[in-house]
Amino acid sequence: MTATATASPYQFFDVQVLRTEHITPAMIRVTLGGPDLPRMASGGRDQRIKIFLPHPGQEAPVMPDTDTGDATEWYADWLALDPAVRGIMRTYTTRELRRDPDELIVDFAVHGTAPSPTDGPATSWARTARPGARIGVLAPVDEENGAYDFRPPQDTDWLLLTADESALPAVASILETLPPGLPTRVWVEVHDLADRQPLPTKADAEIHWLTQEGATRNAIRGADFPAGTPYAWVAGESATVKAVRRHLVTERGFDRKRVSFSGYWRKDTTTDELIERGETA
Ligand SMILES: Cc1cc2nc3c(=O)[nH]c(=O)nc-3n(C[C@H](O)[C@H](O)[C@H](O)COP(=O)(O)OP(=O)(O)OC[C@H]3O[C@@H](n4cnc5c(N)ncnc54)[C@H](O)[C@@H]3O)c2cc1C
Repeated sequence: MTATATASPYQFFDVQVLRTEHITPAMIRVTLGGPDLPRMASGGRDQRIKIFLPHPGQEAPVMPDTDTGDATEWYADWLALDPAVRGIMRTYTTRELRRDPDELIVDFAVHGTAPSPTDGPATSWARTARPGARIGVLAPVDEENGAYDFRPPQDTDWLLLTADESALPAVASILETLPPGLPTRVWVEVHDLADRQPLPTKADAEIHWLTQEGATRNAIRGADFPAGTPYAWVAGESATVKAVRRHLVTERGFDRKRVSFSGYWRKDTTTDELIERGETA
């Protein structure tokens, strides 16, 4: 798979692992490199990308034929491939796209420190990835692209961010981009307090770390919010995301257009099951 010149704002990239490190016990940082990375772009914030993993026994993921030069139809092309053979697709966040040298950083939450029978393919892959391992990535080639949701309107007075570990890479990136002094309230659920990480920002950020799954709903319910017009960005497990959004809109009077929300995973359901049911792309 090679990157192709295309009318689409996205391209496939053939990348390989340069190094991995545990940045906290349950978060593995994977640094990826590849000859086409200079063409990759990122809008920062919660920039999402698709990764494609090989099945056991494959050296590299089997990808749609992109030689036509257009990645617009990539999803239909990928779906048409045999599920037992095609690259295993998952959605992740560009934690950072570095230059000189060109490196793509992706942080994988591994849902606990020890391998578990419920680990999905991406989690297992991150736990065992070694330098040289090849994966595919579908990523933007233009900084301005439709694959990020954090878009606070100009008149935003303060921000509310909620996440679990799967959305922590996005929160970390969002916080890095905020203007000095912007009042920001952040709630993050982690597996364990040892999974807290530094979140540098120029914003006036108050960060709350929670260790109980789903604790965000109650924490927010009891919180005093700053005065002024808010913008909320809510991501993580689907049921928690829905509950938080409902609370903000129905009980706290947030304008629904000022609440960006995204289910990053669903309890007891694999991404492959969601894809089969047509509930995710
Ligand atoms: C826009 C977007 C951006 C994302 N960015 C990131 C990112 O940067 N880093 C990251 O780690 N994840 C991220 N995710 C979430 C990631 O795609 C899912 O966690 C995905 O399910 C992992 O795939 P898997 O193969 O490990 O598990 P799957 O095969 O999909 O699922 C296996 C089992 O694991 C459970 N599971 C899945 N995720 C979690 C979790 N986080 N905690 C506990 N149990 C879980 C499922 O319910 C299922 O029972 C993002 C998701 C979206 C939609």
